[in-house]
Amino acid sequence: MKKCFYIGNKLIGDSSILLQSMGDRKTSDVNYAIKLTNNLEKMGLDMMRFSILDKEDAISLKKIKEKVSIPIIADIHFDLKLAFLAIENGADKIRINPGNTSTSLLNEFIALVKEKDIPIRIGVNSGSLNKYLTKTADFEEAYFLALDEMIDSFKSLGFDKLVLSLKNSDVKKTYSLYTKAYARYPYPLHLGLTESGFSTSGVIRSTIAMYPLIKDRMCSTIRLSLADERKEEVRALKVLLKEAGIRPNLPTLIVCPTCGRTQVDVKELARVVQNKLDYVFKDVKIAIMGCPVNGIGEGKDADFGLAGSGKKDIYVAFKKGKSIGLYNRDDALSLLDQFLKDF
Ligand code: SF4
Repeated sequence: MKKCFYIGNKLIGDSSILLQSMGDRKTSDVNYAIKLTNNLEKMGLDMMRFSILDKEDAISLKKIKEKVSIPIIADIHFDLKLAFLAIENGADKIRINPGNTSTSLLNEFIALVKEKDIPIRIGVNSGSLNKYLTKTADFEEAYFLALDEMIDSFKSLGFDKLVLSLKNSDVKKTYSLYTKAYARYPYPLHLGLTESGFSTSGVIRSTIAMYPLIKDRMCSTIRLSLADERKEEVRALKVLLKEAGIRPNLPTLIVCPTCGRTQVDVKELARVVQNKLDYVFKDVKIAIMGCPVNGIGEGKDADFGLAGSGKKDIYVAFKKGKSIGLYNRDDALSLLDQFLKDF
């Protein structure tokens, strides 16, 4: 357990781990921001972060806040005046980077977040450590100097609803930094491997870095940063949390890789099924297999499965390895819908 407090309507710091993502267009594209946030929330997202590049972005938060229900985090670099404006327009939390935050308005900023009770993420990134690297040659120590200095500023003015992050794009360094930060600070940690890459490499690298920390609950909020559609971040995070035993009430989808025995379009069907499962919050296992030769046996642990029957576009539906009949694609999907509803 870390220091517990609310960010908007979400409690952070207890044993739960909150899912976070970030807008991928300019925040002033309000309609897109609202649509994206609401869809990701339906998939299970807990908090959404938006970059505040200019005044237009900060002011846009008001319209976004009117149409979404999860907490909104304003990501501020360089100009704390934008943080003042973001707070005025409803931001539930502010992320600042000690490496590029000017100290001239810092005390005024801290007084305001204290008055409005707005939690802060002190987010240190490897790319903005220069001013601390003049004080130490040790790269890790530079992260802790940055955090300590900023934490002291907040604490000295009587406010410490703080979330900390120590972002790096290196898997081993991320693990090392977070285990040390977890032992050193009483504050909840926001975990992520920054700039992890496209889906395949990004998920692999993020998983290696994050899984041990997630499993031991050394973080309170996570983002899996991918150069991909944001729904892929949320999908990957849900798999991580399910496999780490943190959120058991999520579905598992098994899909065979297909081979020459396949007479149906397994990948197309599996994509359709994945889209359905994105909005299911039940501990259910679904299998989509290419053929009945191995498919039903290999999917016998599945609560429900569809396997190519060997005839073009006809599927065998099965439950726990037992066939329940032959169906065309649309009827097979209707059967799955009913099963998920009743499960
Ligand atoms: S389930 Fe059938 S189609 Fe899929 S990989 Fe196995 S043998 Fe091939």
